[in-house]
Amino acid sequence: MEFELSAELLALGEDAREVGRRAAAKIEMPEDSWLIGNDRAFSRELAERGWIGMTWPTEHGGQGRSSLERFMVVEGLISTGAPIASSWFADRQIGPTLLQFGTEEQRRRWLPGIIAGEAQWSIGMSEPDAGSDVASIRTRAVRDGDRWIVNGQKIWTSGAADADWIYLIARTDPDAAPHQGLSEFVVAMDSPGITIEPITDATGNRHFCEVFFENVEVPDGHLVGAMNGSFRQVMRQMEHERGGIDRLVSNRALYDLIREDLGAITDPLLRQEFARAESVYTIARNMVLREVVGQAPPGWSAITKTLATEFEIEVANLCGRALGAGAMLWNRVSRNICYAPAYTLMGGTTQVLRNIVGERVLGLPREPRGS
Ligand SMILES: Cc1cc2nc3c(=O)[nH]c(=O)nc-3n(C[C@H](O)[C@H](O)[C@H](O)COP(=O)(O)OP(=O)(O)OC[C@H]3O[C@@H](n4cnc5c(N)ncnc54)[C@H](O)[C@@H]3O)c2cc1C
Repeated sequence: MEFELSAELLALGEDAREVGRRAAAKIEMPEDSWLIGNDRAFSRELAERGWIGMTWPTEHGGQGRSSLERFMVVEGLISTGAPIASSWFADRQIGPTLLQFGTEEQRRRWLPGIIAGEAQWSIGMSEPDAGSDVASIRTRAVRDGDRWIVNGQKIWTSGAADADWIYLIARTDPDAAPHQGLSEFVVAMDSPGITIEPITDATGNRHFCEVFFENVEVPDGHLVGAMNGSFRQVMRQMEHERGGIDRLVSNRALYDLIREDLGAITDPLLRQEFARAESVYTIARNMVLREVVGQAPPGWSAITKTLATEFEIEVANLCGRALGAGAMLWNRVSRNICYAPAYTLMGGTTQVLRNIVGERVLGLPREPRGS
């Protein structure tokens, strides 16, 4: 069996790495830039290269290229710290969702802006009392003639302050079972009644936000997919969100920087840890690739995300140990150590994903309630 990637794919990956390195060189701390690196000009550059919507059908303005080609580009960009946050959520999640669940009219309306790198999207799922438990969402959308009226609050909405659109999950049937009364809407961020409050995280960054909705009007044509059918759609969206290379290489640029000086590290235990890290990178990348080529069994993304994001935390700490006392100063390493706990929270916490792996993938018995 031939595991090597073709020369064309490797060249494409190197091309993306070069573009990523150039863009990252302008940023002081380029780690996690798929999440916090908002740069609209760079989004337009990606669009000009045909690197947004790469695998989407050409009739919808996509490039119709293979998932492996997209993998090479995305890995090259994220692992070098390219600031792709302005286009990333739409490229990773919203576009595929519109292609799968949207109407023809919705695709015609929203995909071109994404593909052109012009429209920035955010994801309005989590609420103060509904993070892991999506079924607890309380934000309400009530139909009023040919529109919906939305009231409620979202939290941890990445990039909301810079976004043009929010992909909102709201409760549309309060009488249905909790997971059955939810629907999805596209809401313009400049709609009257929306207030956005950035939250400062442990590193001083303000990328995620609280978003408040007060009698926000949303046209009926902005409901995406089945009314009260969000739960099934969310499960599909999570597969886009969890199993990708972004979960493995958020701090790869930092790792590569520290590894450049490996010759200067004489501590054999530390050197051994770098050897282990190389192995985990290879294993986890192959797990992502399995997903990319469509050979992963159901639930695989929960396994990949758990392994990869726990490893990202290890990488941050390993870089800290390699730097030594310098990690007590404010720099890329200490910033990444402060940021690292986020890896196993966002997109589904490690504990919740382990439940999924145990119950849905391995079919283990559930712990009886109250035990
Ligand atoms: C950097 C970052 C960016 C984010 N961006 C977005 C975004 O753009 N849009 C968005 O909607 N959300 C976003 N989130 C929110 C993220 O999805 C939630 O933080 C996550 O789903 C966990 O929810 P929670 O924070 O409410 O924690 P909770 O669900 O309250 O969990 C608290 C703790 O309890 C544990 N726990 C909860 N339920 C169980 C269970 N059943 N079994 C075992 N343990 C359990 C969890 O593992 C965790 O340790 C972001 C989060 C971060 C950190």
